[in-house]
Amino acid sequence: MESDEGVGNGDHQAQVIVVGAGPAGSAAALHLARAGVDVLLLEKGTFPRDKVCGDGLTPRGVQQLVRMGVDIDAPGWMRTKGMRWVCGGRQVHIDWPRSGSHPDFGLTRSRHDFDDILARHAVAAGARLCLETRATGPLTDRAGRIVGVSAVSGADKQPRTYRAPVVIAADGASARTALAMGLERDRGKPMATAARRYYRSEARTSDPYLELWADLRCSRTGRDLPGYGWIFPLGDGRVNVGLGALPHRGHGTVDLRATMDRWMA
Ligand SMILES: Cc1cc2nc3c(=O)[nH]c(=O)nc-3n(C[C@H](O)[C@H](O)[C@H](O)COP(=O)(O)OP(=O)(O)OC[C@H]3O[C@@H](n4cnc5c(N)ncnc54)[C@H](O)[C@@H]3O)c2cc1C
Repeated sequence: MESDEGVGNGDHQAQVIVVGAGPAGSAAALHLARAGVDVLLLEKGTFPRDKVCGDGLTPRGVQQLVRMGVDIDAPGWMRTKGMRWVCGGRQVHIDWPRSGSHPDFGLTRSRHDFDDILARHAVAAGARLCLETRATGPLTDRAGRIVGVSAVSGADKQPRTYRAPVVIAADGASARTALAMGLERDRGKPMATAARRYYRSEARTSDPYLELWADLRCSRTGRDLPGYGWIFPLGDGRVNVGLGALPHRGHGTVDLRATMDRWMA
C-alpha cells in the first residue's frame, strides 16, 4: 500500500493512474503492473467492504480470476454448474457451456472480500494502492487532455494531486471522472434499480445452480416488471437474494422492497 511518509508536497507521479479499485480497476492495475508499468490505484474506500451485488460469477469471470492468479480452490469460493430459470410455474436448468478456454463452472463469492482479494493481487503484481483516496476531479493540460487527478486523502481529507499521462476511470456506475471529462450518459439507455438481502438457508446455500426468476410483478400495479429476481448460493449457510428491475414510465415509482417482498412470498 502506498504511504505518504516522506512526501512533502502531496504530488504523486505514475505512468498510469487508475481511479477506483473495484474489479475493473484492480484488474486493469494488475495487468499493467505485470507488464512493467508504474501504476497508481486510487480507491476512495477501504477494504474489506461490502457492495450491493448478486455475488455470482459466470465462467468468463472465473477465467479472468484465474488469469489474475486468484486461488479459486481456497475456502470461500462456491462452484456453480449453471442457471435455473423459473417462470410461470416452470423451470429450466441451463448448464454453463463447455466451450474452448472457459472453465465449465461459475463461482459465487461474497462481495465483502471479493474486491479486497483482487486489489491485493494488483498490489502483489506491483501496483501502488492508495486507500481512502477520493479523486475529486481531473487535472488537464492546456489542450484539455487529462494529465492526472486531484484527490483528497485520509480521514482528514488532505488534498493531493496525482499525475500521469494516462488515467483510467474505473470509478463504477457513477462514472464521475468520465463525466467530468465531458462524456455524457446516454439517456436513451434504461437505468436498472436493484435490491438485495442475505438470508440463511441450509437447504439452498449449497445449491449448485444460480436461480433466477423471470416473472416479477410491480407491488403497486400488479403489472409485469421487466427484470428478474435471483437466489444465489454462497456455500457458507447464506444465500444472496435480490431483484433487479427496469421500470418504465407505465409503472410510475416502483417500491422495490415491496416488490421483492411480494416476489419472495
Ligand atoms: C444489485 C446488483 C447486483 C449485481 N450482481 C452481479 C452479479 O451477481 N455478478 C456480476 O458479475 N455482477 C453483478 N453486478 C454488477 C457488478 O457489481 C459490476 O459489474 C461491477 O461492480 C463493476 O465493477 P467496476 O470495477 O467497474 O465498478 P465498481 O465495482 O463500482 O467499483 C468502482 C470502485 O471505484 C471506487 N470509486 C468510486 N468513485 C471514486 C473516486 N472518485 N475516487 C476513488 N475511488 C472511487 C468505488 O469505491 C469502487 O470501489 C451487480 C450489480 C448490482 C448493482
